[in-house]
Amino acid sequence: MLDKYVCKACGVQYENSLEKPNECIICSEERQFISSKGQNWTTLESMIKEGQYKNTINIEEEGLYSINTCPSFGIGQTAYLIQDKNFNLLWDCISYIDEKTISKIEDLGGIDAIALSHPHYYSSQVEWAEAFNAPIYIHEDDQEWVMRPSERIVFWSGESLELKEGIILHRIGGHFKGGTVLEWKNGDNQSGILMTGDIIRVVADLSWVSFMYSYPNFIPLPETTVERISTRIKELKFARLYDAFHRVIKEEAKQNVLRSATRYMEALHGTLFNS
Ligand SMILES: [Zn+2]
Ligand SMILES: [Zn+2]
Repeated sequence: MLDKYVCKACGVQYENSLEKPNECIICSEERQFISSKGQNWTTLESMIKEGQYKNTINIEEEGLYSINTCPSFGIGQTAYLIQDKNFNLLWDCISYIDEKTISKIEDLGGIDAIALSHPHYYSSQVEWAEAFNAPIYIHEDDQEWVMRPSERIVFWSGESLELKEGIILHRIGGHFKGGTVLEWKNGDNQSGILMTGDIIRVVADLSWVSFMYSYPNFIPLPETTVERISTRIKELKFARLYDAFHRVIKEEAKQNVLRSATRYMEALHGTLFNS
């Protein structure tokens, strides 16, 4: 039967096919992994029918909502809805979407645009775009990772794209070539918020971050890349940071990202510690 299969490991939905794809292209690459139990597929329709999942939508602070699937599905990332002067942006995405989710988000003003940090969160982005009649912004350098093409996807190019005044996408690369962060200048009472997906990830000590090529396989980034990211971050306006796993640096986030980049480069150099 013609179906849009969803990889159970990364949550990415594929375009219509008669048979399940052999292996998930995103998971069979070193920045993800195929489970030791093998490749598994589902569909959004069967997830809805099973009735096992629901989405929770919580307010984080003024103008910012987090969206999570319960129980956790796929990578288990958090998507965020940003409300800024009649403009609603969905930052990153999750696989599960049902009528309840749609009506709750409609009550919050719907979605005017969707923007993605990188392919691990493409999930069922086209379902979301169709439900809310919204365009999807993806950096053109990650075009090859789109498993369900759609006319709604806008491939942007260059280093930055202002979606609306004070809401700016920045391609900083690293984890993926088109890896993107979102600068929301009006967030946190005009102090600015940076949404990072896992292009920049808050670590166990919540006042530090890390930058990896592969998180599941612990492959670091080269020094030149981290230095470039650090230079770009210096130009951005933010004091608070949200990553894809609901970790938040509430204050002085920019300083914390910059000193984390310095520590990372020192570790690569062999000057951080003796061992
Ligand atoms: Zn996958
Ligand atoms: Zn990732």
